[in-house]
Amino acid sequence: MRNQGHPESSWYAATGSPFADLPPLDGDIQADVCIIGAGFTGLGAALELARKEVRVVVLEAARVGSGGSGRNGGQIHTGQRREQPWLEARLGADAAMALWGLAEAAREHLVGLIAESGIDCDLRPGLIHARHRPGGEAEDAAFIDHMDRVYGCRRYELLDEEALSKALGSGVYFGGMVDHGGGHLHPLNLTLGMARAAVAAGAVIHENSRASGWRRKAGKLAVETARGEVTCDRLIVSGDGYIDGLSARIDARVMPINNFIAVTEPLSDPGILPDDMAVADSRFVINYFRKTADNRLLFGGGENYVPWFPADIAAFVRGHMTRIYPQLSGARISHAWGGSLGVTMNRLPYVRELEPGVWTAAGYSGQGVMLAPLVGALLGRATLGEREEADLLSTLPCPPFPGGRLLRWPALVAGMSWYALRDRFG
Ligand SMILES: Cc1cc2nc3c(=O)[nH]c(=O)nc-3n(C[C@H](O)[C@H](O)[C@H](O)COP(=O)(O)OP(=O)(O)OC[C@H]3O[C@@H](n4cnc5c(N)ncnc54)[C@H](O)[C@@H]3O)c2cc1C
Repeated sequence: MRNQGHPESSWYAATGSPFADLPPLDGDIQADVCIIGAGFTGLGAALELARKEVRVVVLEAARVGSGGSGRNGGQIHTGQRREQPWLEARLGADAAMALWGLAEAAREHLVGLIAESGIDCDLRPGLIHARHRPGGEAEDAAFIDHMDRVYGCRRYELLDEEALSKALGSGVYFGGMVDHGGGHLHPLNLTLGMARAAVAAGAVIHENSRASGWRRKAGKLAVETARGEVTCDRLIVSGDGYIDGLSARIDARVMPINNFIAVTEPLSDPGILPDDMAVADSRFVINYFRKTADNRLLFGGGENYVPWFPADIAAFVRGHMTRIYPQLSGARISHAWGGSLGVTMNRLPYVRELEPGVWTAAGYSGQGVMLAPLVGALLGRATLGEREEADLLSTLPCPPFPGGRLLRWPALVAGMSWYALRDRFG
């Protein structure tokens, strides 16, 4: 089943900064705003609200950062999950420009948050996009030109096959580009740092306090847990890949998928990622990798679409890793773990006011490190009536997955597996 708690097998848990247990909710309490989920979204909202002296209570089913936020690849992808030309074609030039502005604000927000809260999370610059098929160089060059002309963005640099092979220490790709605005970080330490900052600003966080639902109560909202409830004026529901039946509307649109990571023993080969950038490739099931601060290779590869993890995650990821780095076929894997993330049909985040005073954001589809802290803050603002940006995100289309809660799994498995096969043989 999906892991809860910080997986002990995770390199992040092994190197995370100390964070004392926070007591579960025990009894009935009051708050202005209650937040469900202590990941980037929930903590981004908590921090924003607590700094504005709003009484905020966060309910976390397991531990702070035990969802995707504390387990992910740590890759900072700039922009939205869909590229600007895709957004222009589907949503129009104005909406695409507004979404670019929001993504840029998210990048600044993340960097500012880390700096002003003094969060030690190994932030490093540079993310390489690597092409796994021949051809495509002209398309990459056109994209770089488009981003410069339309958005004034000059952060991308084209890499030919030789330059890419040198930057990676692997010759399996056919060229790509560097996004000098992207980068990577230690996501659990970012999450714990956000929680510390929120608590210091006055937020209350209860761990091991799963919200089982909410109801209207005398003009307010009551959020229920096993041992008490929070009565509040507004509610923010985060939970992403871990939401698990709390809201049928979210469930219909945000599908949890599982993704897996392995970390090697410290590398002896200085040729692997000498510039310390992160890499994501162009496969549908993306391979993504980077070095850790203690010089290991952290490699994300392989997904599954069922409610359980493979028995041997290290072996599951090793195959993907050694196709790119055959020189690591004998390397020991010191840590391996999995996690769940929410994806939407069109890979755009699902941000909505579910009912008056109840907001949600989820389904960042692999782009949450950069987007979620700001989107959380925007939901916080929306609960105070500053709704402009949350309203913009709410206009993004987010169709339900076909098949409903029970039948969507077979449909997703069939659809995703087809794309995965196309990666291999297409
Ligand atoms: C293996 C993996 C690799 C990834 N790699 C990247 C990457 O490199 N870059 C990137 O941008 N994104 C990546 N992602 C996605 C990213 O982690 C997510 O987009 C992001 O963490 C979402 O943050 P969140 O706060 O919305 O949700 P989460 O961090 O998942 O937090 C949700 C929290 O809600 C809690 N919760 C759920 N239900 C309840 C309830 N009923 N009551 C109380 N609490 C509840 C959960 O316990 C959890 O702690 C990856 C995800 C995974 C799993």
